[in-house]
Amino acid sequence: MIPLIGALLVALLGVPTPGDGGIGTGPTWLASSHLRTTADRPVEPATSVRRSEPLAGRVIVLDAGHQLGNHNFPQEINRPVPAGGFSKPCNTTGTSTNGGYPEATFAWNVTTRLKAKLEKAGATVVLTRKSNREDRWGPCVDYRGRKGNKRHADLKISIHGDGSLSSGAHGFHVIYPPDRPPWTDDIFQPSERLAGVTKAALVKKGFSVANYIAGGDGLDERSDLGTLNLSDVPVVMLESGNMRDSGDAAVMTSAQGQERYARALALAIRNYLHG
Ligand code: ZN
Repeated sequence: MIPLIGALLVALLGVPTPGDGGIGTGPTWLASSHLRTTADRPVEPATSVRRSEPLAGRVIVLDAGHQLGNHNFPQEINRPVPAGGFSKPCNTTGTSTNGGYPEATFAWNVTTRLKAKLEKAGATVVLTRKSNREDRWGPCVDYRGRKGNKRHADLKISIHGDGSLSSGAHGFHVIYPPDRPPWTDDIFQPSERLAGVTKAALVKKGFSVANYIAGGDGLDERSDLGTLNLSDVPVVMLESGNMRDSGDAAVMTSAQGQERYARALALAIRNYLHG
């Protein structure tokens, strides 16, 4: 994976320029750099991107939807919280497959796999919840929405699975916030771009767009989600598939399927940050 990332970086960014360090600019450096051997290679400027860590310096928030124990704490998760000009319940139980595999567990497994990939690439990953346990609940959507604002995170992805009972409904869709002052007008444009890049990466990794969402293009703009509305950093929410659909459920409950989601999202994040 790493050589691929390096190749991608070179393809996207071109030959690394020495300009960041303020020294050695110009044709002389370029000419000599190609003649250097590994042994006398100069120390890279501190601000350059290390090829082995293409996401160095990046801060990424991953929001694993719900919490396994939410259903055990109805009072706590039904408490109204700010959600961007209105109130909503703190959280919900989330859905599950017909076989009882919880959305919270799917979201957690993809999140932890994705976290490992991003950290390997040098990123700092911030999670909105740190466990997947029956004796825990939350956090509330206002907390999820604000997480990463103070740190000026580069982006946030909220990972969910849908629970549509419509016959034959399957596929993923990516939700992003609208141009709605004063809540998400500031993050609308980059969030829309992140949604497009995320969709493309999922399609590239073999997932199909939802056939039951209006528009049918796998993208959905929504103003009713606190997780999106309270974010000051580019954010999308992924409904990874329909857990009530047997085909989607088979993928979403398998380790291989969860790994493929994580790979797709890692690709999306790299493409967004380097695009
Ligand atoms: Zn959900």
